[in-house]
Amino acid sequence: MQTNFELKRHNTMKIFQAMRSRESVSRKELATLTGLSWGSVSAISAELLQKGIAVAEKEASAGGRPAERLALSPDKFLQLGIDINSVGLSFVVVNLQGKAVYSELLPIESRDKDDLLTLLYAQTERILLQTPSVIGINLSMQGKINKKTGVSLRTNFFKAWKDVPLVHSFERRFSIPTKLYHDPDCLLYYHMQNDPRLSGKNDGFVVRLDDGIGMSRLLGGRLYERGDDASYELGHTIAVPDGRACACGKRGCLEAYASLRGMREIYAEKSGEKAASFPEKLRTGDGLAQAVLREACDRLGVAIANLFTLSAPEFILLDGGLFAQAPYCFDEIEKNTRARLADDCNLLFAAYTREAPAIGACLITVEKTTEEILFGL
Ligand SMILES: [Zn+2]
Repeated sequence: MQTNFELKRHNTMKIFQAMRSRESVSRKELATLTGLSWGSVSAISAELLQKGIAVAEKEASAGGRPAERLALSPDKFLQLGIDINSVGLSFVVVNLQGKAVYSELLPIESRDKDDLLTLLYAQTERILLQTPSVIGINLSMQGKINKKTGVSLRTNFFKAWKDVPLVHSFERRFSIPTKLYHDPDCLLYYHMQNDPRLSGKNDGFVVRLDDGIGMSRLLGGRLYERGDDASYELGHTIAVPDGRACACGKRGCLEAYASLRGMREIYAEKSGEKAASFPEKLRTGDGLAQAVLREACDRLGVAIANLFTLSAPEFILLDGGLFAQAPYCFDEIEKNTRARLADDCNLLFAAYTREAPAIGACLITVEKTTEEILFGL
């Protein structure tokens, strides 16, 4: 049996979710959306308005008393999201409606740990000075992390990056509660919130194809989390036994062949040209660059078909910088996936949004923070 407090908390979150699903709502619409009584809706929305979580605006109406429409605050209780990725640092400020009110992408000049941290702190400080209503910092990080301790254990993309206590460092510097998330989890959260094709889905995977290959799982309608540093590592499943050396220390990993970095390195070895020239060669239709991409798409098709066979998910959604460089390769990956499956599969492709992981990191925190603001938990 629920106590009064639990019931109120449950109802308040219902109203919050309903508000988040619309640009704005009337109290009457809130009652319909949540199934709560008029009295409950009135009392809870009054409290949300009083705490500044919601704002009210008068609705223009022809004659009679104008109805009031309610919306979540566009400029209070903001969250800062930072995606720390080898393709660049992405900063976003997200409001309670889940919308980015500020966004910036910083290229990474140096892959040295200290240089990168200096850049991260300086930019964070600048954003916090211009946006004092930020109440939380949310980091989306590739590689291995420990969510409990807030430590980024390792990533193969930055030099000397080992056991970096990101949460502790950010909280000490900025005195703002900070959370650390694995980047594919952030991407999953972003898409669950923004992609209508995932609405009502309970079981699926999001795969991020960038310089690395990351993966996250939706299970029972929720982000699958074990709470320790375990994560799905599709990128480090074996594509070629005893094959190319992978940065993780093993040989023949999918990531060594089918990540953007793997492709750049293979292209450089085969052509004698600089690895950095690969994206440009791809754009200009260079035959060897295209062949390297086709082979990567073939290996990705095998890996994704195996994932469908192994887990029978409702969907697998592909996202990442690969599609910014070569949007057409989704068709190639899909063809190669279907060729290895006996049954139909729901393979989806997300239009690439650079800010998605940073926004997703904020979205994970928003619900929890809302409860904290409302109930002081
Ligand atoms: Zn590996």
